[in-house]
Amino acid sequence: MTLFPTVRGVFRKRSSAARGRRKRLLQHHDNASVFGDDWAVRVLVVEDEVRLASLIRKGLRAEGLLADVAIKGEDALWMAGSSPYDVLTLDLGLSGMDGLEVCRCLRADRVRTPILMLTAREAVEYRIAGLDAGADDYLVKPFDFGELLARLRALARRGPAEHGTVLRVADLALEPASRRVRRGDREVELSTKEFQLLEVFMRHPDQVLTRYQLLERAWDAAYEHRSNVIDVYVRYLREKLDRPFGVESIETVRGTGYRLRAA
Ligand code: CA
Repeated sequence: MTLFPTVRGVFRKRSSAARGRRKRLLQHHDNASVFGDDWAVRVLVVEDEVRLASLIRKGLRAEGLLADVAIKGEDALWMAGSSPYDVLTLDLGLSGMDGLEVCRCLRADRVRTPILMLTAREAVEYRIAGLDAGADDYLVKPFDFGELLARLRALARRGPAEHGTVLRVADLALEPASRRVRRGDREVELSTKEFQLLEVFMRHPDQVLTRYQLLERAWDAAYEHRSNVIDVYVRYLREKLDRPFGVESIETVRGTGYRLRAA
């Protein structure tokens, strides 16, 4: 069963203002992008709705990405295991072997390609199940094509999941795989967005990061370009990670952005 009466309905319409804004953003940011013309992102689209799969493939190719499609989970396992994809989109509701199973098998086979889970179910338990199975991000159908693209690029840029890695800056520790954060020996609970923002800071300690860089690396600039969103999340992080511990680790650099102090 599909939740979408027509394929057209799968992609949410983007307003012309949003399209223009995105275009300007991309033009403005072209030089700083790590996606130069010499590197095409390779995507494996795992989707059993044939029309949707071919629509996604077409859309990705139109944007200059390379895209292959696997209709069945078993094919996806074989393809992802034998070709170097930069990122996978994985439909949760596949007929036969489902998305969660595919995800678990890939991770069990040590395939560490970043995985974007696509799900028609918004319920938080499905998202958690997907993340627990080894997915890196998820997107709920129907989605905006620009958002799909942006998230795929962000995941591809992040590279293969580094399981078992712990990032450390001063007495902060962050485990990307398990999504856990500690200050000293106290665990701190963060939302997904807070976590992603902190991860960017911790991968660039002592560097001044602009709001745009933070936005692009943590979530993606194109789908959430609100000028104050970074300020809001930095405030959340300070309230959870700094204030209770009497420290000021995230520094505001006036006119530029923010810096996570390493010392
Ligand atoms: Ca499906």
